[in-house]
Amino acid sequence: MTGGRMDKSVMTWEAYRNIAPPGMVDLGHRISERLKGKTLLHVNSTRWGGGVAEMLHRLVPLFQDLGIDTRWDVIEGSPEFYQVTKGFHNALQGQAQTMTTQMYETYLKTSRKNGRKMDFNSDVVVIHDPQPAPLVYKKKKHSKWLWRCHIDVSRPQRNVWNFLKDYVSKYDGAIFSLPDFAKRLNIPQYLVYPSIDPLSDKNKELSEKKIFSILAKYNIPSDKPMILQVSRFDQFKDPLGVIEAYKMVKKFNDCCLVLAGGSAADDPEGMQVLNDVKNAAEKDEDIFILDLPPDANIEINALQRAATVVIQKSLREGFGLTVAEAMWKGKPVIGGFVGGITVQIVYGQTGFTVNSLEGCAYRIRHLLNNPEFARKMGQNAKEFTRRNFLITRHIIDYLSLMIANLNL
Ligand code: UDP
Repeated sequence: MTGGRMDKSVMTWEAYRNIAPPGMVDLGHRISERLKGKTLLHVNSTRWGGGVAEMLHRLVPLFQDLGIDTRWDVIEGSPEFYQVTKGFHNALQGQAQTMTTQMYETYLKTSRKNGRKMDFNSDVVVIHDPQPAPLVYKKKKHSKWLWRCHIDVSRPQRNVWNFLKDYVSKYDGAIFSLPDFAKRLNIPQYLVYPSIDPLSDKNKELSEKKIFSILAKYNIPSDKPMILQVSRFDQFKDPLGVIEAYKMVKKFNDCCLVLAGGSAADDPEGMQVLNDVKNAAEKDEDIFILDLPPDANIEINALQRAATVVIQKSLREGFGLTVAEAMWKGKPVIGGFVGGITVQIVYGQTGFTVNSLEGCAYRIRHLLNNPEFARKMGQNAKEFTRRNFLITRHIIDYLSLMIANLNL
């Protein structure tokens, strides 16, 4: 996928003064003084789709605004390469996969090809996720390389992790989204939570008029409670489970279900999952399946704001930005008890984590039947997100790590 409307919203560090917790903006100015003029390069495997691209679009201009000369480069690969890396991704998240020698070769060949044409001349290089991990062979003595892992590697398929580990061990450090994901490695490991940008098109305030116009565009009724899950059509996001839970709820509560998704450029399995979802929805007129383009930020923003309850019933999850996005909009979120969802949802305070479809249905009904409780929970969720999961904290974590741990 090549397209994608740029989010043109304001990107200056100062703009966050009244939205981030007190002191954060001044702290960022002070810490970044030490790093002015340093060069930073981020590398990942897609410019559009999924949480990593979502964050890099916002992090890169902010680093630049703080005086750090930051670039973002994306590796290129054939459809076969992305098939292989999706297999890697699934295996690292614990699903049985058969990996052949030829698959490993495709992976390494693509890395070498990218390595030859990319410019790694930077003080700090951050490589995101497994797809570009072997690029570390290009590391020069004077530069510091970090491997930033965004996925849930708590129970990986052994052989795939052992293969990847040889490359990860060559970095100066690895960053994970959860303590649970830390591995036995001979390099330092750091914990950094991902973040959302409150000023992006995805998260900024929207007028009621705009929200209603977007509901109308998709023929979604505004006169009944809306249950929403926003996710790529991926088996680990369990969209079929969400439909099951909705069907249980629907026997007692009139409501509609919106499954808003799309596919990432580096995810070849999306189409199959989308077809399965369409079949499972059958002819229920209150289920809306939206296959959105990767730049539908305002649309997703409006759906999250219009929702009564937001679900993220993942079976595996690195972090789950969609949870923070919904919490920031004052929504109570029901999420699978997996990965990063467990640090975002404080049980009973900012939402509910669940372990089964029945549990999910039960909590949806609990929230639909107790609107005042749901409203308070949503308020807690917003403040919890402000303190922990905004981009300002994320940038400060990176800057602190560069100074304190990479000795820049
Ligand atoms: N997203 C989107 N369009 C979609 C589905 C998801 O823009 O059709 C966004 C979503 O709002 C979030 C990101 O993609 O910002 C997904 O990040 P998350 O960490 O939840 O999951 P990932 O896709 O990285 O596994």
